[in-house]
Amino acid sequence: MRVLRNGSKKLIKEINRFKVLNIIRHQHPISRGEISKQYKLGVSTLSYIIEDLKSSGLIYEVGESTSTGGRRAKLIEFNKDFGSIISVKIEEKQVLLALTNMDAEIIAEKEISFGDDSSPESVVNILEKGIHKVFESCDKDINNLLGIGILSSGLVSQNDGSIIRSSMLGWSNVPITNMLQEKFEDVQIFVDNNINGYTLAELSNGEGQKSNNFLVVSVGAGIGLSVVIDRKIYYGALGGAGEFGHTSIVIDGYDCHCGQRGCLEMYASEFYFENKGRELIEKYPDSKIENFNFSEVAEVAEQDDELAKVLVGEMSHYLGYGVRNLINTFNPEKIVIAGEGMKYGHLFMDHVQEIAQKNFFSKVDMPTQIVASKLSKESWLTGGALLAINHIFQEPVYEKEQTII
Ligand SMILES: [Zn+2]
Repeated sequence: MRVLRNGSKKLIKEINRFKVLNIIRHQHPISRGEISKQYKLGVSTLSYIIEDLKSSGLIYEVGESTSTGGRRAKLIEFNKDFGSIISVKIEEKQVLLALTNMDAEIIAEKEISFGDDSSPESVVNILEKGIHKVFESCDKDINNLLGIGILSSGLVSQNDGSIIRSSMLGWSNVPITNMLQEKFEDVQIFVDNNINGYTLAELSNGEGQKSNNFLVVSVGAGIGLSVVIDRKIYYGALGGAGEFGHTSIVIDGYDCHCGQRGCLEMYASEFYFENKGRELIEKYPDSKIENFNFSEVAEVAEQDDELAKVLVGEMSHYLGYGVRNLINTFNPEKIVIAGEGMKYGHLFMDHVQEIAQKNFFSKVDMPTQIVASKLSKESWLTGGALLAINHIFQEPVYEKEQTII
């Protein structure tokens, strides 16, 4: 049984306050009239909330709206400089850091290599020093740091604040938020996986401006998926929804690092170049491929390297079937393809479209758009900041009572 938590009047006040603040945050500058159109509150309640938000420094009033005729209303702005946020993306050999304002606008960035020591302790120490340095670099006060959003590859538990498994980093059960919390005691710290972070940026600045139900697929060193349902990311029972890369595409196919065989990630990402490329290399003695990484294979494919063209063609074939399966499973408005592999999207997206568009829904004239993400590379860091900001401004939720008498 779910009931209002203790002190329900206080909770309702808090909910109203966050509802109003979030309308302002997403639509500023905005008038009081427009807020009350979107969220029905008594005039005096709304005034009380606005005065309260003003006195806490979260919002301020500016000028007057123009060309409305009649009485002119003051507009309310969200104070995006109320505090600072740190966004972190942990990559294979380095961490990317950004300092942003409360609107996730990037003020300063830093890249720090951690070389061969990718132990969690070493990475957390590097983060601690890096965060102090990035504040110094732009002359901002670290005491205004309100939140840190961390993005990592692998399976992440948002609830526990831990990275359950990242094969890229060789980490398992790393309580990353607790570890960093020891260094930054009064700061709220959150973790999610890379693709969910990127999807927060799509929701805020990209495809989410036009769509409420869409999927984001990342292609490159691996395959990622984020599922957006009614503007919310779907996490599954334990936070692991979206492990699309580990769905089976070839029964008893290549061994996968997850312990299964024939996973899509082994066929529709860089892993395929390694797996299939090593099998075929003897047949193509003139091939210039040496390392089988995504960028190398794609670049020599552009130079008409036969083996590279075969590998990219087959990889896109499997990716197309993977995307088709997603369309048939979710019936999304659209699928957004993102990730470092999309730098070379011109080599494979036509083929992906061709295969994926032969889906169940196209047969009944219900087409699904498949589009390349239009966001910049910085959007991973924007997404990390949004992870923290969205949590900080999340409306209070109903909590389950421990005992019911
Ligand atoms: Zn797998």
